[in-house]
Amino acid sequence: MGLFRKSEVCPVCGGEVKGLFLKKIGGKKTLCKECSAQVSMAKELLKNATPEFMKAHLEYRRENALKYNTLHWDVKYVARGTRMGVDPSAGFLYLADADMGDLDNPVVFSFGQITRYELYRLTKKVDDSDTPGATALESTLSALSGIAKILDKDKNSNDYFRLVLTTTEPYWPELKLEIYFNSPDDIYGIGGFGGDLERMCQVLKSVARKEPVTIY
Ligand SMILES: [Zn+2]
Repeated sequence: MGLFRKSEVCPVCGGEVKGLFLKKIGGKKTLCKECSAQVSMAKELLKNATPEFMKAHLEYRRENALKYNTLHWDVKYVARGTRMGVDPSAGFLYLADADMGDLDNPVVFSFGQITRYELYRLTKKVDDSDTPGATALESTLSALSGIAKILDKDKNSNDYFRLVLTTTEPYWPELKLEIYFNSPDDIYGIGGFGGDLERMCQVLKSVARKEPVTIY
């Protein structure tokens, strides 16, 4: 019976461990609700994380929040569940997505930290940072119109883009963002044709190629 079960203590802050959606670190230790909510790192890193590693991470996340609140996000893009903001003059961007954790404290990257960009539709690569020019705009729009045709015929079909970024940010060395389109409304609905996906990708591509960023 659970009556005399000793309550678990958070290995990072010493707080009580209770509630749902708690994150587990190495040694099957569970973080408390407050610490869990602040984590933003790749699954593979979290799986083997020590309490010391997590303490340094949460300090980094507090610095991230300061950066996020200080920079000027002149441009903001939304594509389904993925959001991106750009401070073109300071050379920073943020990315927010359900897999990346706390949406009120999105991960801030300097332009220099983004080293590679690739865009896939299902498993087929439609664009990458080795290809010069504004090809993210063209290829994403043409892929989106292909998806729109499929969804018009078959409302149950399911299609997604996978945006893969290689970064020197310590907690997200490889970032894979999946952007799903599973109804015609996802493409034609609010935000226009697929939202800002193609503009977002073009900016990421220019950043990865160390080219001047044009804001679309
Ligand atoms: Zn804690």
